[in-house]
Amino acid sequence: MNEGLATVSYIGATILFVLSLGGLSNPETSRRGNLYGMIGMALAVLATIFGPRVGADGYAWIIGAMAVGGSIGIYAARTVQMTQMPELVALMHSLVGLAAALVGFASYFDPTSHLLGAEKTIHEIEIYIGILIGVVTFTGSLIAFGKLNGRIDGKPLTLPGRHWMNLAGLLVVIYFGGVFIQSPSHEQGITALVVMTVIAGLFGIHMVMAIGGADMPVVVSMLNSYSGWAAAATGFMLSNDLLIVTGALVGSSGAILSYIMCKAMNRNFISVIAGGFGTGGGTAAPKGGAAQPAGEVTPISSVETAELLREAKSVIIVPGYGMAVAQAQHTVYEITKYLREKGVNIRFGIHPVAGRMPGHMNVLLAEAKVPYDIVLEMDELNDDFPKTDVVMVIGANDIVNPAAQDDPTSPIAGMPVLEVWKAKTSIVMKRSMASGYAGVDNPLFYKENNRMLFGDAKKMLDEVLGALKAG
Ligand code: NDP
Repeated sequence: MNEGLATVSYIGATILFVLSLGGLSNPETSRRGNLYGMIGMALAVLATIFGPRVGADGYAWIIGAMAVGGSIGIYAARTVQMTQMPELVALMHSLVGLAAALVGFASYFDPTSHLLGAEKTIHEIEIYIGILIGVVTFTGSLIAFGKLNGRIDGKPLTLPGRHWMNLAGLLVVIYFGGVFIQSPSHEQGITALVVMTVIAGLFGIHMVMAIGGADMPVVVSMLNSYSGWAAAATGFMLSNDLLIVTGALVGSSGAILSYIMCKAMNRNFISVIAGGFGTGGGTAAPKGGAAQPAGEVTPISSVETAELLREAKSVIIVPGYGMAVAQAQHTVYEITKYLREKGVNIRFGIHPVAGRMPGHMNVLLAEAKVPYDIVLEMDELNDDFPKTDVVMVIGANDIVNPAAQDDPTSPIAGMPVLEVWKAKTSIVMKRSMASGYAGVDNPLFYKENNRMLFGDAKKMLDEVLGALKAG
């Protein structure tokens, strides 16, 4: 393939990526968006492999690497549970970071590169920044992976003088950047590069360790953005325009997502990075452990739940992480279908940080074929709770916690929540009194108009559906 054809293919792939992102912004066009992305990626890979910069002697390496990478990818896609998706995404971000760092080192030692003067300096700046972003993304994403799958405690690590440590690290990185660029030989340059790599690695670890459980949604989207910038940096190092554009698309869309997440949690980006949110202030309960009993709860059976639903004219379902764990979305849809046929006005309320990754609930509900027009955002629905007969909270906890509004000392104070307690009756489905991801007790459970349906969400909803059909 000659240079011209490769360039045209790259432009085609870029357009397809832009269309893909546009499509993914709406559930109804998301399938098409995915298809554009897949075609664009296939075009990009083919144009690169058969393009002018890969010689015939490189094919064996590429085929070998694609076979290994493809097999791991297929295995992971087949075995990973839907609930492990956020961790998988974090792990993939870490690989983008690692790739950027490795390309940086390889690019520095590339024996075929004979750049001189300003071109050499610019290339070395690209390498330095590329490795810096790559390593921060790599270690930060690994810690996020650990926090999301529970191997690392969600509590923020607040070292004394941590901001000063970060600042000192930044100054050292800038200093060694100067040393690196002025190094006359690779032998001297590599020392500066290694020092910076170690500091960047520690910074990535420290940055994500310092962020509390409650801020994890922003961290996930922030690392998504970083992985994009790491890919763009790789593009600069390899002089690959498509990689620069693609990286910038991912980087900027991740940054927009981080902004949306911050807004959803009423947080500003700087204080998220500064860390500490979700610490044990207020009534924080140990994560996953039983919360301190703060009152009496009123349990309800699945048969009684079915009765309430049958008598209701309007119902709102609020799904959360527990629905994903229980894989209850299909039964939720069966119940929805049944109630809609009986003329009940039934809708879904989606909190922006419900579940463990952006859009988690939308994906599950779309998979179960719940119609999009009854799936509403928090802001579209929050005023409707006082006019609602029954709210079913399915495996959600933090996103329906009134303490966010009522208790200024709560670790999640100020986070907008779905005001389910304003409905005539709310029913919370979960297995125990354990707290949610942020490790905070939930006063909703003790409210007079709240009922607790204890058990696995799928099992309980199957029982509710059975009781509805029997009644
Ligand atoms: P939460 O983590 O607050 O609560 C989930 C609840 O589900 C738990 O209290 C648990 O209680 C229950 N549960 C677990 N398994 C089951 C099951 N099989 N059947 C029934 N219930 C079950 O989830 P939310 O969705 O309410 O809130 C999301 C939280 O995750 C927020 O704190 C958010 O900040 C955080 N987060 C969100 C990310 C995102 O991008 N969306 C990323 C990272 C973190 P029990 O054990 O008693 O059953």
